[in-house]
Amino acid sequence: MSPLITPEELIFDARHIWHPYSTTINRVDMFPVVGAEGVYLHLNDGRRVIDGMSSWWCMVHGYNHPEMNAALKRQIDDFSHVMFGGLTHKPAIDLAKKLVAMTPEPIQTVFFSDSGSVAVEVAIKMAMQYWISRDRPEKNKMLTVRGGYYGDTTGGMSVCDPDGGMHHWFTGILPQHYFVPRPECRFGEAFEEQHIADIQQLLDRQGNQLAGIIIEPVVQGAGGMYFYSPEYLVRLRQLCDEYEVLLIHDEIATGFGRTGKLFASEHAGIVPDIMCVGKALTGGYMTMAATLCSEQISRTISEHGPFMHGPTFMANPLACAAGNASLEILSRGDWQTQLTMIEKTLWDGLMPCSEMPSVANVRVLGGIGVVELKEPVVMSEIQPLFVEEGVWVRPFGKLVYVMPPYVISSEELKVLCNSICRVLHRVNRT
Ligand SMILES: *Cc1c(COP(=O)(O)O)cnc(C)c1O
Repeated sequence: MSPLITPEELIFDARHIWHPYSTTINRVDMFPVVGAEGVYLHLNDGRRVIDGMSSWWCMVHGYNHPEMNAALKRQIDDFSHVMFGGLTHKPAIDLAKKLVAMTPEPIQTVFFSDSGSVAVEVAIKMAMQYWISRDRPEKNKMLTVRGGYYGDTTGGMSVCDPDGGMHHWFTGILPQHYFVPRPECRFGEAFEEQHIADIQQLLDRQGNQLAGIIIEPVVQGAGGMYFYSPEYLVRLRQLCDEYEVLLIHDEIATGFGRTGKLFASEHAGIVPDIMCVGKALTGGYMTMAATLCSEQISRTISEHGPFMHGPTFMANPLACAAGNASLEILSRGDWQTQLTMIEKTLWDGLMPCSEMPSVANVRVLGGIGVVELKEPVVMSEIQPLFVEEGVWVRPFGKLVYVMPPYVISSEELKVLCNSICRVLHRVNRT
């Protein structure tokens, strides 16, 4: 455990440190963490809380995992970083081998980067450079569905939901792309051809300007925790082939088992041309992401010159070591039984919430449980209530959701679900 945090340090934090989507004045207090073990976060005041968020969906094997820790310590003693321009190393080769083996057949090439947002930037650039290489530079627009979230950098922001996202602050500077409504047919509902009519029309009119369609397969994450029919993706794949548009899957949230399949695209049985992974890639230990593509794309680009991207910390060996250990743990397959238990326990545990008048919808898929409210939560009110209950749940807008570490026990998960039900009762009554 690290030393306790003093009140003075917390005041310094409030004044001098930006937190995600925060202000530096009139800020709500942060909860200081001094340690973490398994599914628990240890707070400054001695309490421990069950982490229902897997630290924004990445900490799938839990905190302080002995095998993960050992892999990182080994790599630190070898070397922590070398540039990736002109040099290569075993951690990167091993990780790329694993990724190529895990992903379906045409996916063959790996571009390592340092965060999910950058992986999306790389995917968009890759799609654009592909069409430039094919002498069709006019194909330089993206198409996406509303309700998406692809990261906070300019390229990612430009395809995030134009209403719910950050568009309204940055309209002037964002590249303009095309949007269609989010897939209407929810997961488990019957898909009808009319659900894809908007895309078909846009492809008819604008297909020759489109480099690619970018979409989060099956689950839209930070844009609304929305689950839609895999059939939609099957049709999308057909349309992309028909209109010569690349299909980009953002699996940063869904990849590595979260939806009950290793990759969410497996629900649809299709393969994208380009795919982004991140978050759980390193078991939450290090920041790292990757953009993978088919050999046809990497070869076409390369025949015309280098692909123009190269982060300083590309394929950082420590991050690769964490990735290798994390994928090694996944490859043993326990995640499948864990996810089956999590899915069932989430259904049983969260269903009672659906009776509450404040609740609009309860949904579960794999390791994702969502209680959608009719009104947005008041964060400053609800967050301390969760901590009082001994759980870490961080809602956004109308969404109270959990994405627990895969190693959570059914007892811990029941505690988590019961706490959500109790907190929602309490905020509803006051
Ligand atoms: C989190 C996320 C990103 C951005 O990843 P960062 O590592 O936060 O930059 C992009 N796409 C999806 C679907 C995500 O969930």
